[in-house]
Amino acid sequence: MQTTNNKAAPRNGTASTPRPYSTKSGWNYKSGFDRAKLPSPTDYFAQQGLKLTGGGEWKNVICPFHGDSKPSLRVRIDTGGFRCMVCGAHGGDVLAFHRQRYGLNFKQAAQQLSAWNGGAR
Ligand SMILES: [Zn+2]
Repeated sequence: MQTTNNKAAPRNGTASTPRPYSTKSGWNYKSGFDRAKLPSPTDYFAQQGLKLTGGGEWKNVICPFHGDSKPSLRVRIDTGGFRCMVCGAHGGDVLAFHRQRYGLNFKQAAQQLSAWNGGAR
């Protein structure tokens, strides 16, 4: 008895290897942002009518994110970073502050702070 073991192994000629598509998703939503145009934290918080008190680089401010009566919000005047000791609001710069305070998206906040290159897509 002989078993012929020479089955032609079916060659998978149509092996479809998924090609990694590099689809660019339109425009980068941060493309028009120019961080250099952000107002300085000192100017910004003054514009917002927030009084900075205290010495050093961390200032105390009445927190606009909760019903604050005494300054609980600490802001860094060099970076605009902020953190509230009471409600926990925090962020890294005046843009983050602006977004949170007014519920804006990145572009809207950048535009309002004149840090968006107009019309750039
Ligand atoms: Zn707060």
